Amino acid sequence: MTGTTAEGTVRAHRARDAMYIGGRWRPARGTERIDVLDPATERVVGRVPAGTALDVDDAVRAARAALPGWAATAPSDRAAVLAAARDLMVARRKQIAATVSTELGAPLAFATAVHTDLPVAVMGSYAALVAEYAFEERAGNSRVFQEPVGVVGAITPWNYPLHQVVAKVAPALAAGCTVVLKPAEDTPLVAQLFAELLHEAGLPEGVFNMVTGLGTVAGQALAEHPGVDLVSFTGSTAVGRLIGSIAGSAVKRVALELGGKSANVVLPGADLARAVNVGVANVFANSGQTCSAWTRILVDAERYDEAVDLAVAATAKYVPGERIGPLVNAGQRERVLGYIRRGMEEGARVAAGGPEMPEGLPTGYYVRPTVLADVTPEMTVAQEEIFGPVVVLMRYQDEQDALRIANGTVYGLAGAVWAPDEETAVAFARRMDTGQVDINGGRFNPLAPFGGYKQSGVGRELGVHGLAEYLQTKSLQF
Ligand code: NAD
Repeated sequence: MTGTTAEGTVRAHRARDAMYIGGRWRPARGTERIDVLDPATERVVGRVPAGTALDVDDAVRAARAALPGWAATAPSDRAAVLAAARDLMVARRKQIAATVSTELGAPLAFATAVHTDLPVAVMGSYAALVAEYAFEERAGNSRVFQEPVGVVGAITPWNYPLHQVVAKVAPALAAGCTVVLKPAEDTPLVAQLFAELLHEAGLPEGVFNMVTGLGTVAGQALAEHPGVDLVSFTGSTAVGRLIGSIAGSAVKRVALELGGKSANVVLPGADLARAVNVGVANVFANSGQTCSAWTRILVDAERYDEAVDLAVAATAKYVPGERIGPLVNAGQRERVLGYIRRGMEEGARVAAGGPEMPEGLPTGYYVRPTVLADVTPEMTVAQEEIFGPVVVLMRYQDEQDALRIANGTVYGLAGAVWAPDEETAVAFARRMDTGQVDINGGRFNPLAPFGGYKQSGVGRELGVHGLAEYLQTKSLQF
């Protein structure tokens, strides 16, 4: 349970056998436990309680009791707590990175630069946003107020374990909501560390609560609980569909951030080498476990072969166990290997990587970074989310064909367009059925609304749009 840094060794968070409810750590109501594994060593590094519906009920009651007080605080007071939480995250940066590196398997450099520094930036952004947000406006003879939705049930996945927690908890708290979090079963340690930081930041008791546990038990109990006003879920489309129907039948608010199969479209005349190199890096970061990854590279027929060669050369730099970590668990590895084999059966060509085990790594859930070429739109690997280090290269005939392929999946989360000029790229991006597009390598922006078109989700996270998800509107007429 350690991560090594230039200045020495920092311990990962030590698992607590307790739930954070009502401002204190208390024993779970049940006796079941969840083992937390280090995916690089396959060893158990901690054990956390598997919460039951009773724990969820305790947590929701605590959140309800705390709601009137927290909802009535001045935005500047909420901003101060969020700023204190951000400062504590900065102070514990190495411990956060070591914890994510341990339970997710991410290389420490990536765990620090992305898994730690991104949530720090998001927490800071909400400390700033809430201080300046207009919670009241005038419309004719009305005063219009933005009020907190109430108690939020947040259910998060393991792939960006702290970022996804902060992307829900920070705006919910900023809005004046109280929260019950059910983090992913593979990555509960950084969530426990985050609960400690919020406690130290001076958040009043019951405003934030956390129940660890299985999705089908604790997660479902949280989604179904009548004391929850809004369910915010990030995870697979299959579970998202279920959460959406539970929330729909109870007429409660719901936000869903689901899967993706995003297109990286290289238009004629664009810088092909840059587009492919950045594209490959985008997919292999986090071992391909990124919902918004540009997993389909689309290139015109004329430059297609050159693009495959560039992708193969770029892939050689991603050595498993060094630059690229393992997948999160054995099940995910089997799922990803199954997709590679399915691609081969359906006629895709393995240009790099493949389903064999990487050399010299007898333990750890590693997969060879893989480039599948000659992929056509009807193949399974062109349609379904693989969630591993696999990129597919597809050939298009003209711009219309590229658009048809780019829009030809059930998903619409992200994408990229490369063109010789910005105007051409923007014109193409505006025709894509997707929530976010990076133009000629545009950088990630933690203030830009993030969320999906089509089956990639409902609602937006981050920035001012993310805050609005947790608010409801009341108008008074004079
Ligand atoms: P998952 O849907 O299995 O689990 C996500 C969370 O939901 C976990 O906390 C899990 O315990 C819980 N859960 C599972 N079953 C549940 C149920 N019946 N009721 C309530 N909660 C339940 O997904 P995963 O395997 O953890 O994550 C991978 C998937 O998440 C991928 O498809 C990926 O694209 C998607 N994802 C999307 C985004 C996004 O922002 N759009 C971000 C990250 C991951």
